[in-house]
Amino acid sequence: MIVEDKRARKWHSQTDLIQAGFLAEWSEGAIRPPIFPNTTYLSKSAEELERAFRIAYGLCKPDPEMPPVLMYNRINHPNAEICEDRLSLATGSEACALFSSGMAAIDTLLFTLNSGDTILHSRPVYGGTNHLIKEELVRFGINNVSFGPDDDYNDINKIISKANSKNLAIVYVESPANPTNTLFDLELCGRIAKEHKALFVVDNTFLGPMWQNPTKFGADLVVYSATKFIGGHNDVLSGAITGSKKLISEIKARRGIKGNIASPFSSWLLTRSLEDLFLRTKKQMENAKKIAKFLNKHPNVTNVYYPSLFEGKQGQIYKKLGIKPGAMIPFEIKGTKREAYLFLNNLKLVKLAVSLGGTITLAEHPHSMTHIGVSDKDKIESGINESLIRLSVGLEHYKDIIKDLDQALYKIYAK
Ligand code: PLP
Repeated sequence: MIVEDKRARKWHSQTDLIQAGFLAEWSEGAIRPPIFPNTTYLSKSAEELERAFRIAYGLCKPDPEMPPVLMYNRINHPNAEICEDRLSLATGSEACALFSSGMAAIDTLLFTLNSGDTILHSRPVYGGTNHLIKEELVRFGINNVSFGPDDDYNDINKIISKANSKNLAIVYVESPANPTNTLFDLELCGRIAKEHKALFVVDNTFLGPMWQNPTKFGADLVVYSATKFIGGHNDVLSGAITGSKKLISEIKARRGIKGNIASPFSSWLLTRSLEDLFLRTKKQMENAKKIAKFLNKHPNVTNVYYPSLFEGKQGQIYKKLGIKPGAMIPFEIKGTKREAYLFLNNLKLVKLAVSLGGTITLAEHPHSMTHIGVSDKDKIESGINESLIRLSVGLEHYKDIIKDLDQALYKIYAK
């Protein structure tokens, strides 16, 4: 049913996000894709259904010129495919796979493409990813080593040599990193991956697909918690991976076995969210720029980690990457955990909640919440300290957000 709409390639990526991959003729003239909740599909012939199973179980390769066969929702379904087509066209990648969550995407990727024995990852990474790499993958004999933003080419190669790896499988980089907005030189990371014949994977969740394109720096795969900026309305849990047709088809085969594809309803919600992705995240960023400036001058704030304010090496990397600063503002308040909690507990408009990238402004304490499972050593090395607050800026009027942050910041030291 879903065929590649070749005409869509003529349009701008912002147009693709709204119209690609769906023809109204497919659905009684409805201009928006309906939800297809059914689990199984009518086949044109027994031969066609056999071919679909052969592809699903890796017994034969899909023919890129043939439309994918729809047969069972665990393998693929129209709502996922429409969204996948739009996201891959808009990000200039060949293919995309949707998942039931960001963690489902990362888990499937790391288990599917592990042809080696070691993962090299940037530090810090999201708490769930950290747990997966450090606690789960090691049980399957996959080791890990990490590097920080100040490590250069020689340092990283020394880290790899020390790991005694026979075969480095993946260089996994989160940039900007959750929760600190730490930036990594993606060109350097890509070069190192290539030299070691490892796959180069970038988690682009913290900026989202509008403000950074890691494929420019040689990323083989880009992963997203689509729960964040892509979904953007704090109402859909999902993940996405973009990359070459070859790698994505391997990942999709594994997804079909694991059964962790995004549901039709989640995929439909994501498709709707893609339509305002550009405008929504642009406005969030405009808000964030003003809020970062405000926080930077506040007497009860000691540090603000917003990319356009970065100086020194991080400032150089920001310029080199040519990215935009986004809508995440990690900042340190004057004080420690007690003051951080006083601040969070006194917020009125901004919500004390995890997750990020949505229309509602959210704040949390990474040290004791999202990143609680990260080792003390890694927390110290990554700057995840007890005075750090992670703020995700939404679409409320920026003056109201500032008013709320200001009153909560003053409550910390109120008599
Ligand atoms: N990657 C990053 C950078 C994240 O921030 C998150 C969640 O916060 C994930 C992956 C996992 O995504 P999900 O919560 O959708 O499983």
